[in-house]
This record gives sequence, structure tokens and C-alpha cells, in this order.
Amino acid sequence: MDRHAEDRVTWCPSGDAHRPESVVLGVRSGDNGQVVYVDEPVPAADVLSSIPEGIAPHRILRFASHCTSACANRVGDDCGLIQRIQTLPSSRDTGAVPRCHLRPHCKWWNQTGVDACHRCPALSTLNSTDDRLAVLVADPATTVEQLESWIAAAE
Ligand code: SF4
Repeated sequence: MDRHAEDRVTWCPSGDAHRPESVVLGVRSGDNGQVVYVDEPVPAADVLSSIPEGIAPHRILRFASHCTSACANRVGDDCGLIQRIQTLPSSRDTGAVPRCHLRPHCKWWNQTGVDACHRCPALSTLNSTDDRLAVLVADPATTVEQLESWIAAAE
């Protein structure tokens, strides 16, 4: 890919660890497993072999990979995952955004701006199957309207 084409690529901050271009976005090491972002992108391939067998890479790391039109989360040109995430009540809606190497090319930042960055550290790319709301948010088939109804009913 030439330099100009590379500049136009947007990246998913909830990416697939195993794609050729994948990089480590951060480490789930902060309070409550929140992501602490690495200063520079590290190729995922360089770290995956260091993760002990039996531990899913997404349990300890967040990865970024190219945002593709074939993604199940795509809604037109937009990312439906961050749309669903934005439906959730947020307690982090003020203050500085985290330092993050992905920002210039991040799909979520380019689509929604600062709100995505306030929510981003708390997100896990591993579906928690015992958390019904997390499963609904992660499911590309869930609509924003369904989420809003579910949240309203749970209140
Ligand atoms: S949403 Fe914000 S903090 Fe998260 S990867 Fe994108 S630019 Fe970085």
C-alpha cells in the first residue's frame, strides 16, 4: 500500500488481533481492567507468541486493525458498534481524552469525536457472556432502538 492510500485507511480500535496489519493499541491494566494505551503501535504478531496458551489475547490486550467494509458492524459507512456503545449511559463524559497513537486514523474518533475516546478505555473486545447488556452491545444484529428499549426496561 502506498503512503497516500495508507493515510486514507481508517482503523478499528476494537480490532482483530490476527490480521496482518494488527497492532497493539493498549494493555488492559488500569483500574477495573481499563485500557492503558501504549505510546507507539507494536505489531500484534510480535506479542501474540508471548501470550501463554489458553489465554485469549483480548483478555489482556486491545488491538487495532483496519476498518473494512466487510465488517459485520458496518452501518453504511459508519461503525455500528460505536453507535451501540454510545447508547449506554456514560460516567466519563468530561475531562481529557487518553493519549492514543491511533487517533488520526481511528474510525471511532473520526465518526464521533471525543465521546468515543471517553468510552474507549472501558471497552473489552471479549464478549462477557454473563453480561446480557455487553452481549447485546457486541451483537451487530442489535439495533440502537432495541438497546434503548432494553436499558429503559432495566431502569
Ligand atoms: S476512540 Fe479515541 S482513545 Fe479509542 S482508539 Fe480511537 S482515538 Fe484512541
